[in-house]
Amino acid sequence: MKFTVLTLFPEFVENALNTSILGKAGQKGLLSFNVVNIRDFSADKNKRVDDYTYGGGAGMLMQAQPVYDAYLSCISGNDGKEKPRTIYVSPKGKPFTQTDAVSFSSEEEIVLVCGHYEGIDERALEKIGAENYSIGDYVLTGGELPALVMIDAIARLCPGVLGNDESSEIESFHNDLLEYPQYTRPEVWEGIRVPEVLLKGDPKQVNAWRLEKSKEITAKVRPDLYDKYEKRCAVLDKLLKDKRNNIQMIEQLRRGIGEIISDDPLIIVNHSDRVALAGQEADISADDLISILPDHIEQVVVTEELAGKLLTDERFMLSCSIINCVYTEKVHRKVLNKDIRPLGIESLDYVEKHYDLGGEGYARSRIEAGEMYGIYDEGNLAGFIGRHGEGSIGLLYVDEAFRGKGYAQDLESFMFNKALEKGETPYGQVKIENDVSFSLQEKLGVYAGDKVFCWLNVKKT
Ligand code: SAM
Repeated sequence: MKFTVLTLFPEFVENALNTSILGKAGQKGLLSFNVVNIRDFSADKNKRVDDYTYGGGAGMLMQAQPVYDAYLSCISGNDGKEKPRTIYVSPKGKPFTQTDAVSFSSEEEIVLVCGHYEGIDERALEKIGAENYSIGDYVLTGGELPALVMIDAIARLCPGVLGNDESSEIESFHNDLLEYPQYTRPEVWEGIRVPEVLLKGDPKQVNAWRLEKSKEITAKVRPDLYDKYEKRCAVLDKLLKDKRNNIQMIEQLRRGIGEIISDDPLIIVNHSDRVALAGQEADISADDLISILPDHIEQVVVTEELAGKLLTDERFMLSCSIINCVYTEKVHRKVLNKDIRPLGIESLDYVEKHYDLGGEGYARSRIEAGEMYGIYDEGNLAGFIGRHGEGSIGLLYVDEAFRGKGYAQDLESFMFNKALEKGETPYGQVKIENDVSFSLQEKLGVYAGDKVFCWLNVKKT
């Protein structure tokens, strides 16, 4: 992922970006940074970039010309490609949250514009069309720290940036709760003992204790967040009454990758996968749905009935119709061929050749996310499977030369086991016309729902 920062203080930004985890990720090529000095674009002979504000008032303002020219220099190489999402960091912006960090982490490039003095001439901001984000209700001297805060929060969610010793999976804000207290050695320090339950090593009890502590802390210090958590639990309870059909929504909420953006009708958004899921009861017009959806949402999943209504509007196009399939057993399945490994980028051509995936770059993003696995027969790649961004298991393919050896079952079972290890319910979505896959699911002991859901592509304009 690439971050471009427009600033008057490039050394400040570069120093931070070259340090610690971000620095290492930059060296490994997982992240790239382009720090642009706005002053280099000043048309003034003394390289001035600021002036007095019209209408009076204390302080200077950054002029439109250098900021806009610096911005144009960054996007000039993007011929034909969509403009990168651009952020102006400002106390007047929308509060930046973990949900935003997740949403931005799936971008290829982000441009961040840092203000200074009293800020930036509004005309430059209008022409750039930046989204405004604030890092909190206080005023700082410049946009460099806010830009770095945002980069740090976004970058650590990109695949490979955090090493094995650091994890971004379950932390504060996961499922709208703050993190529980944590302890390391020694067991007793200054006469204070680590809570007994953590020493016993029973994962169930540990998890229950952690959840209780998280709830306690959140209710005390962030009642607003706790309300969201309670709402999420109430929605989950309702969805669980029809687990097979609702599994996709359930897993978005359980895995902490879905945000409820509307209760009635129920709409859950997975920001990083740019998809919105509507509840079974949702009956909403195309206009109303479009007005609720965040700008970056590209697909919606709705019941067959609602799809019929939305598809009369040209902003919605049918991608596919599916049935949810859920593995409800808690026991691990047997995997006979154990030679199943994560696929590296060198297998991209093979994957693209054999699977008609969800658009350009999709296979690459799944491989880079570490979510594609290959099965090998005497060292030869014989097939693959993967996990879609919103969590369903799919992308299954077995090479013709290796069919009849049970490899499809092995791959599916392998993925089920992985999901179970993480405490997730394994599920997939099978296209209604794919009889072969339905019979495979049956062999695997998977339960199919009885409702058809449609994936629709959305064009907001
Ligand atoms: N006059 C501006 C106002 O009242 O909204 C404040 C300008 S501030 C002194 C200078 C720059 O710091 C801003 O243009 C912005 O880029 C950055 N900045 C300051 N506080 C920020 C915050 N809480 N979040 C994001 N950016 C901030």
